[in-house]
Amino acid sequence: MFETELPYRIALGGSWIIGYGIRLYYERRARGVQRVSARHLTRERILYWMVFTAFLLPLIYVFSPILDTAHLALPAAVRWVGLPFAILGVALLRATHHALGTNWSGKLEIAVGHRLIVVGPYRRVRHPMYTALFCMAFAYSLLSANWIVAGVNIVAVTLMYLARVRDEEQMLIDQFGDEYRAYMRRTGRLVPKL
Ligand code: SAH
Repeated sequence: MFETELPYRIALGGSWIIGYGIRLYYERRARGVQRVSARHLTRERILYWMVFTAFLLPLIYVFSPILDTAHLALPAAVRWVGLPFAILGVALLRATHHALGTNWSGKLEIAVGHRLIVVGPYRRVRHPMYTALFCMAFAYSLLSANWIVAGVNIVAVTLMYLARVRDEEQMLIDQFGDEYRAYMRRTGRLVPKL
């Protein structure tokens, strides 16, 4: 089993490491930025660590056989659909971090001098970083063909998104007022408005 799984393990492991490298780089740049306010801090910490822990499972699939009992017999053509999603997810993660800069936070926070970003991937979509996380969870699910990896990742990202998105938008409305309301009218949440 290990040999036939090798190309998938390389594709998944490679995209995982690039994605994590991007996150670490931008997390470091945003470190030390003063925050003026935060909302639902305990819940947000739990959500952040829940998604982080879920994202460790694909790595266990890559480096160890202990999850192999949860293997799903998916055709290779279906599994490889995960690769473009992994590339899209990583590219979008990079683009969103680049656009948000020090306005980024893993929680619901407003930074000192926080600016509303409406350029790059934010031009037509309000939550493209969550789109990136969904793409990556979907990619890991297909590439690993493992129901534990798939179930935990998709549930974790969906829960985080559903628990957070309304409060995040309310926080940004409170901060930016009509500027954010107008921005909401011309953008979609996860994909561009038609
Ligand atoms: N929901 C966004 C951002 C995720 S990071 C996305 O999926 O792309 C979460 C932080 O980003 C929040 O603390 C919020 O303050 C900030 N944020 C969200 N949208 C923003 C925007 N358009 N401009 C500036 N900051 C934003």
